[in-house]
Amino acid sequence: MNLISMHRMFPTDDKCREMLTRLRWPAGPECIRCKGPVVKLETEKSLFYCKECDYQFSVTAGTIFNDSHLPLETWFTATLLLCQAKKGMSACQVQRTLGISYKTAWFLCHRIRAAMMQADKPMLSGKVEMDETFIGGVNRGKGKSARWNNKENVIGIRQRGGDLRFFHAADVKSGTLEKFIHENISEDVEVLFTDDFNAYRSAAKHLRKDGRHKTLRHSLKVYAKGDIHTNTIESAFSLLKRGIVGTWHKISAKHLAAYLQEMEFRFNRRKNSDLFADTLRHMVTAPKLTFEKLTA
Ligand SMILES: [Zn+2]
Repeated sequence: MNLISMHRMFPTDDKCREMLTRLRWPAGPECIRCKGPVVKLETEKSLFYCKECDYQFSVTAGTIFNDSHLPLETWFTATLLLCQAKKGMSACQVQRTLGISYKTAWFLCHRIRAAMMQADKPMLSGKVEMDETFIGGVNRGKGKSARWNNKENVIGIRQRGGDLRFFHAADVKSGTLEKFIHENISEDVEVLFTDDFNAYRSAAKHLRKDGRHKTLRHSLKVYAKGDIHTNTIESAFSLLKRGIVGTWHKISAKHLAAYLQEMEFRFNRRKNSDLFADTLRHMVTAPKLTFEKLTA
């Protein structure tokens, strides 16, 4: 899908609605209150009507599109831009490309991102790499102790030949790492590769006891030993950093998790030829996100 084919396929509000209806209700539209049968309203074709509840609603009601005054064509264009930009796209760029206000573009991007966060995530298995990195600039001129204060911890876990997970973590203590391991890596993982950062020893103790935790001595500048390396997760980190430096410039700690989810969503679907429809499907099935909630 590119911009031209997208505008050919979805040139009008009606065409966009048809697509969203198919994605939201693959078996045909149903009432969002009672799941009963609905008809299209005679007087307003964009609305469905449930006789049982005497209730009318649109295909976007209660979803991430909820209460938006933007035309669906604008939503579709923004979605395509966001899901195809390998290194991400800033709200500034969306503002310029779509000719909307910065605030509108910012909120639009965040809602698309919120829908991406809803994706179901299977546990990682097979050969898995885990590593941590820091995002954020160095505090200059504020003394030695404040130098690293605005660094945020990012944990990355990646199954070789499989999915990636990114997390914004409060710290990289062993208890924190252990929680991420248990929540994302299957009990029957074949092997977990990390560097020799001490916190992993106790975080991965359940894998260590039968030799399924393998470490590289990065502290001794050993970066690969045959199969044992963390290059796969490190390449994902470098893409993330290029995205942050090149596109988002400076992102606040508050929204870092959302940006990480966006990168992760796109990365895990980079070979998915139907990424655009997949993203729209998440958007029309994700719960609404209000501006108040986002800025709270
Ligand atoms: Zn109903």
